[in-house]
Amino acid sequence: MKLDSRIYIAGHRGLVGSAIHRALQQRGYTNLLTRTRAQLDLLEASSVARFFAENKPQYVFLAAAKVGGIAANITFPADFLRENLIIQMNIIEAARRSDVSRLLFLGSSCIYPRLASQPMPESSLLTGPLEPTNRPYALAKIAGIEMCWSYNRQYGTKYLAALPSNIYGPNDNFDPKTSHVLPALIRKTFEAIRSGAKEITVWGTGTPRREFLYSGDLAEACLFLMNLDDASFQSLLVEDAPPLINLGTGEDLTIRELAEIVCRTLGYSGELVFDSSKPDGTLRKLMDVTRLHDLGWRHSTGLEQGIGLTWSAVRDTLSKVSE
Ligand code: GDP
Repeated sequence: MKLDSRIYIAGHRGLVGSAIHRALQQRGYTNLLTRTRAQLDLLEASSVARFFAENKPQYVFLAAAKVGGIAANITFPADFLRENLIIQMNIIEAARRSDVSRLLFLGSSCIYPRLASQPMPESSLLTGPLEPTNRPYALAKIAGIEMCWSYNRQYGTKYLAALPSNIYGPNDNFDPKTSHVLPALIRKTFEAIRSGAKEITVWGTGTPRREFLYSGDLAEACLFLMNLDDASFQSLLVEDAPPLINLGTGEDLTIRELAEIVCRTLGYSGELVFDSSKPDGTLRKLMDVTRLHDLGWRHSTGLEQGIGLTWSAVRDTLSKVSE
């Protein structure tokens, strides 16, 4: 990407898109295209087509998606399936029609089979049944990967799917009912400190393991991929395997350990209570990040540091929300 390339960040207000947007701004990219949901409804094919025809982006970060934690996925399965399918169909087709040079499609580690061997390499895609709690989301994202792969073969496009582990950072959803585990734990711990509660409730047994990547690191990885030289980028788009790359740290920890770090970071010394009537979801989903490391990229923000950064970025907003 040149500093004046036209770069569209779909979903620039979300956790991932906003981090990519910030990283591009910090690096001095001047021609960033963004639209709010009110300005451009990504569920409307004709509006998306018009936007691409008029603005002719050269690079696209497809970070717009319907996302949520385990409870949101269980409650709104139809929305997760439908909205993600439509958004990616609209954007990928419009990108093809307007000759976008490179497109990075953001997915998630939950597309891999529930019982995939750990750590999960890119080759585990479609080798077994999915985790039921987020199967609709995962199937939509798998269809998106298949679109990238099919378009590359049929039209010679250069579309790559990046699969991050659990991402956290500023601009996350901190609503305890629909959020992912890390923002939920930050919110619960914060509320417990304010109210003087002696314990916080953690869903599930605390034993599932998860891998977390700081959103700023994820953004750096996405820019790194988009800026790969032609030969390296092309090496990820081979014809006989899906165009995929895992983005993670290669390290995981239990939900209990995660809750303990959050309590330490926020300075809370109450008890953790585990509510095993709530679902654990998949037991482990550690990424094999060999492909990413071999290209020369590694994360730089440790989990404790990243939780600290997230907490400093959101504490004022949370104080207002909870007043
Ligand atoms: P997942 O990674 O797709 O399963 O989604 P989540 O981030 O929502 O959940 C990860 C794990 O954290 C699951 O085992 C949850 O049961 C557990 N967990 C513990 N407390 C919470 C909480 O307050 N909210 C959420 N969303 N998950 C929690």
